[in-house]
Amino acid sequence: MGDQLRYDMIKGAKEALETPGVCSNYSPFYVEKHYKEAMNFKGGNAVYTFPNTPIKCAGAPQKACYITDSILRQRGVRDKAHMIYATSLKRLFGIESYLKSLEKVAREKDIDVRTRRNSIEYSLLHIGPPCSTPKALRTLELVDKNGFMDVDVGSLQSKNFPNVFGVGDCMNTPNAKTAAAVSSHLKTIKRNLWQVMQGKTPSMQYGGYASCPLVVSTNRFGIFHEVLIVERGNMIGADSNDRMATLELLDEDAKPTEGIEKV
Ligand SMILES: Cc1cc2nc3c(=O)[nH]c(=O)nc-3n(C[C@H](O)[C@H](O)[C@H](O)COP(=O)(O)OP(=O)(O)OC[C@H]3O[C@@H](n4cnc5c(N)ncnc54)[C@H](O)[C@@H]3O)c2cc1C
Repeated sequence: MGDQLRYDMIKGAKEALETPGVCSNYSPFYVEKHYKEAMNFKGGNAVYTFPNTPIKCAGAPQKACYITDSILRQRGVRDKAHMIYATSLKRLFGIESYLKSLEKVAREKDIDVRTRRNSIEYSLLHIGPPCSTPKALRTLELVDKNGFMDVDVGSLQSKNFPNVFGVGDCMNTPNAKTAAAVSSHLKTIKRNLWQVMQGKTPSMQYGGYASCPLVVSTNRFGIFHEVLIVERGNMIGADSNDRMATLELLDEDAKPTEGIEKV
């Protein structure tokens, strides 16, 4: 069932999205507006927010910020912008091994990272919306106190109903909520469902795999120019050589100047 975008959890956000300067890549209704706003930006604060709930693709608000930075540089107006990344977290990014790399990216791009802030004036505002599971799920006995499906983090079996398994963003597994993680969830439950239907104990364990190509800049044709591949956990179905490759990639990508792919 995924996660819902909960603009309603920020007072005034739904109304603000209908006004000039306010946009959000998370919504099909306001993603194109972001590009138009970046192309018409004349100066002032450009603010990118990160919410205080679990969020789909936690890298996406940063991607939005870095892409706009590229657009403003290509338009020759970057010096008129004060770009602010305002996060409810204590730091720029939740995964320690990538934090230093991303802090370096933000520093080099002159992005003002503000933690645990609420109100900032803006000319352009990109909202990273709070997320929750859909009401149809969070009112069932399947969920934990935060409204996410309560599963065993390895087998993905419901803690309350052994004949139910979870997949995707709606679960309370601690992985980053990405489509890449979903592919690993599916491999896990494919085996486990089969075993449970045969009266056996589920044996496949989800290894926490998640991945997100974090766009750091684009070229003047809007094509990704620099991408930091943020990757974590074991990829189910990969053989030991593949897993080695994954870990090497992670080490490389922790250093953006070396791990960045140039197109
Ligand atoms: C801006 C953005 C950028 C992203 N970038 C990346 C990326 O680069 N890499 C990556 O791996 N992931 C990325 N993601 C995350 C990825 O899209 C999600 O993790 C993935 O789609 C989750 O899959 P899901 O099946 O759990 O949920 P969803 O894809 O959200 O699917 C859930 C479906 O259930 C339906 N549904 C909900 N309630 C009900 C109901 N009551 N009855 C019937 N149907 C219902 C919904 O309509 C929806 O179709 C990004 C997400 C966003 C928003």
